[in-house]
Amino acid sequence: LVSRKTKAEDTHIDVNGTVIGDGTPVMMFGPCAVESYEQVDQVGKLLSEKGEKFIRGGALKPRTSPYDFQGLGEEGLKILQDVGKKYNLNTISEIVDTRQVEMAAEYLDVFQVGARNSQNFELLKEIGKTNKPVLFKRGMSTNISEYIHAAEYIAANGNNNIILCERGIRTFEKETRNTLDISAVPILKRQTHLPVIVDITHSTGRKDIMGDIAKAALAVGADGLMCEVHPNPSIALSDAAQQLDFNEFEALYKIIR
Ligand code: PEP
Ligand code: MN
Repeated sequence: LVSRKTKAEDTHIDVNGTVIGDGTPVMMFGPCAVESYEQVDQVGKLLSEKGEKFIRGGALKPRTSPYDFQGLGEEGLKILQDVGKKYNLNTISEIVDTRQVEMAAEYLDVFQVGARNSQNFELLKEIGKTNKPVLFKRGMSTNISEYIHAAEYIAANGNNNIILCERGIRTFEKETRNTLDISAVPILKRQTHLPVIVDITHSTGRKDIMGDIAKAALAVGADGLMCEVHPNPSIALSDAAQQLDFNEFEALYKIIR
């Protein structure tokens, strides 16, 4: 169903009037994690002043260590929704379990499935039974063929509103957090009819090259970018080293818009 062979035209995903995949790149900015109303409100204000249409923020965080901040849960989703409503921004947040689908659907405009759940087929099936757009990330160790098959689980259950996201894969290279597989963007766009975005934060983990990587992603045809922004990254409860502060955001924004 997601193959280009079954449908020649690009899929356009309409999220409350903002279209993903029509040739105009969309920007999905926001903090790594929802930490407080004030924190998300500041980011929401910034994005709406720029005319952006999306805000991201994790509330159900899949952390490497069980002792690290796990997110605010449903309360975090509510904060994101409140800020989204206030500034007319569509909300994106990750869910990690089938039991969260119904609850989270009340708060979100776009479900996110993260790298760690890229082959959680039961979760993909449940999300597939909804018609909510899903930002579906590539797993850190899934090849392109496996990734497309995983996307097919969502489509096979009835949901065609799938946005693919290259977020870097595991390699031997240590200079970046992950290795951005830039080739995956044109390959996914050739082999499927779905929009493809690039996460420039988790792929690089490095603020000093994010602008260059953003340009590269857009140059190879990405339909959008995801990037983490925080009012005060030094005290962020997750990914403190790689979230942009508002000055760094302005510099990046100038490059990409
Ligand atoms: C995220 O976007 O919040 C995230 C956890 O990213 P990934 O699943 O790509 O690691
Ligand atoms: Mn993060």
